[in-house]
Amino acid sequence: MDTIEAKSLFSPATGYIQRGGFQWTCNPYVGCTFGCKYCYAMYLPQNDQPKEDWGRWFRVKRNAVELAERHGRKVAGQAIYMSSVTDPYQPVERSLFLTRGILEALIPHQPRLVVQTRGPLVVRDIDLLNEFRSVRVNFSIPTDSESVRQAFEPKAPPLEKRWEAVATLRDAGIPFGICVTPTLPLEHPRKFAETLAASGAKVLVVQDFHHSGGGFGADTSKEAMSLVESLGWSTARYREFKNQLAGLTELFEGEAGFFPPPDSATAR
Ligand code: SF4
Repeated sequence: MDTIEAKSLFSPATGYIQRGGFQWTCNPYVGCTFGCKYCYAMYLPQNDQPKEDWGRWFRVKRNAVELAERHGRKVAGQAIYMSSVTDPYQPVERSLFLTRGILEALIPHQPRLVVQTRGPLVVRDIDLLNEFRSVRVNFSIPTDSESVRQAFEPKAPPLEKRWEAVATLRDAGIPFGICVTPTLPLEHPRKFAETLAASGAKVLVVQDFHHSGGGFGADTSKEAMSLVESLGWSTARYREFKNQLAGLTELFEGEAGFFPPPDSATAR
């Protein structure tokens, strides 16, 4: 396992995360073995590996918990986005407990916390999440189709497991959002919209998927793009889905949906 001694754990938020109102990002790992084929993180300077290898490597910040303990005070009461360029609940977290250790270290400082993940493992830490007065788990569920999920996120957890995790969070009273971002091709958009609207999510976010042709932004493999085309997915169909969902509940589009939870316990 590749480990590194990190200089810092909390980095000043930039880009859409900063614009959304976050002060800090927190990434326990470098790289991400979920390896989503459209992941923007592979285009960032932090990725010093070939883009083709995204998802096949990761590095562990072995001193992450120590840094959280040492620097937790500086993020007290401020908004943290965990994580911006990795998934804090990728498989290795099951045995390393870095994300869990960071949460434990942060509880005394009560930041306003968003945990962004595709990993059902997050439910392991419900006991700690419950200790935050201002928290939201943003779950990424970008499609209703397992075959689409497998084409774009072959190493990420199946959709059924994510919905089970969402139900567990809901039953435990942990505020959660659902990010349909990017919105991948859908099999049954109307039914998916109804499921999302009835989910109990505090925040729903959608975003049109587009192929950037190798530039920064949502991108994916030729095979996955062929699937998009074979399903007849298009911006027009995305808009139709978005309007269906908007007719049922409040929603946000794109970066407008990435903001911290309210800073009051009563808002939970
Ligand atoms: S889970 Fe997030 S960080 Fe990991 S590959 Fe997918 S989009 Fe990128």
